[in-house]
Amino acid sequence: MSANTAKALNNWENGRWIGQTLEVENGVCAVPGKLAPDNLEYTDEVKKATDHLYDEVSGFIPKFEWPAYAPLVHAINTLKKQKNAVILAHNYMTPDIFALIGDYKGDSLGLAIQATKTDADIIVQAGVHFMAETSKILCPEKTVLIPSLRAGCSLASSITGEDVKLIKQRYPGVPIVTYVNTSADVKAESDICCTSSNAVQVVESLGVDKVIMLPDEFLAKNVARQTNIEIITWHGRCEVHARFSAQDVRDMRAANPGVIVLAHPECPPEVVEESDFTGSTKAMSDYVGDHKPKNVILLTECSMSDNVAMANPEVDFVRPCNLCPHMKRITLENIYSCLRDEKHEVKVPKRIAKKARRAVQRMIDLPPPGKKGHFNPHAEPVHVKVI
Ligand code: SF4
Repeated sequence: MSANTAKALNNWENGRWIGQTLEVENGVCAVPGKLAPDNLEYTDEVKKATDHLYDEVSGFIPKFEWPAYAPLVHAINTLKKQKNAVILAHNYMTPDIFALIGDYKGDSLGLAIQATKTDADIIVQAGVHFMAETSKILCPEKTVLIPSLRAGCSLASSITGEDVKLIKQRYPGVPIVTYVNTSADVKAESDICCTSSNAVQVVESLGVDKVIMLPDEFLAKNVARQTNIEIITWHGRCEVHARFSAQDVRDMRAANPGVIVLAHPECPPEVVEESDFTGSTKAMSDYVGDHKPKNVILLTECSMSDNVAMANPEVDFVRPCNLCPHMKRITLENIYSCLRDEKHEVKVPKRIAKKARRAVQRMIDLPPPGKKGHFNPHAEPVHVKVI
């Protein structure tokens, strides 16, 4: 190890903590962070205001590291009150963000609905860019901020609004169902949006025998097995879920006899086939809460297991770790500076927002998906055309 590497891995410098939350580059994490902004200190006042929060994250943050987290947590929570702001924290945020500063927590659908209900002036999206755009589309009068402009998504960047226009020319009259993991431009060209919670329900709500479902090839293939409706899809993939393989699942079962495997429907269909249960992040979280399996594996982004584990301390989580490098660009530090400076405001042109809102609202107006959000892992494969 070179002297420089050794220094980089040392999270303490001159008695001050410089590590803190993970900074991820090219999917590799654990590069230490920067100096805490504004030289925030672990004072007696901070200690008093934050001590009660530590219990929730004690399984993830060693006690000796707490003095590095507490000043940022306190500063963010203070800024939220001063500025009438809320933080929408996605299930894939690290536990410090999810448990300590998130006002609303959940999956894409849950956060989109919460965005419409808040009376806060500022929404900080602790998630990726398409989520912040969705909040802005639904709440045009509010200021929506994203802590990192580099928090993208492989699915959202797989397709553009121009692509959708061409697809509509090629398949006139076939409704376009668009996953929320897309840009506002793409949503604007769509008939209705869906999430992994309600995708089957949305497809079936249209009363047609054929739909185009964009852009996630694997989600579309998994949905196609749950319905009689013919589905045409696009070749987009989530770079996190696409990495799981059926052999991975078999290996994990062999190494952990009796383990229950829950998969996200963005995983390849052959992975879903190997699972015991498949559903959205909310459905997986509910499954663990309802069934309290002794041992469980969540085939999804790493932080999800941490966050579900906090609510289910009696459940043992096996953690196959696929990080989303985009989600991990959101840190306590950049949430603090984003809120302090009210920077990285997300804007959507009015014309696009109006059309996109129609597609998102049409989805929100459907009744809750209930069991329609659960995928039968053993459903028969069907042919899905990928364009
Ligand atoms: S986990 Fe996948 S779908 Fe979600 S933001 Fe990351 S790349 Fe996109």
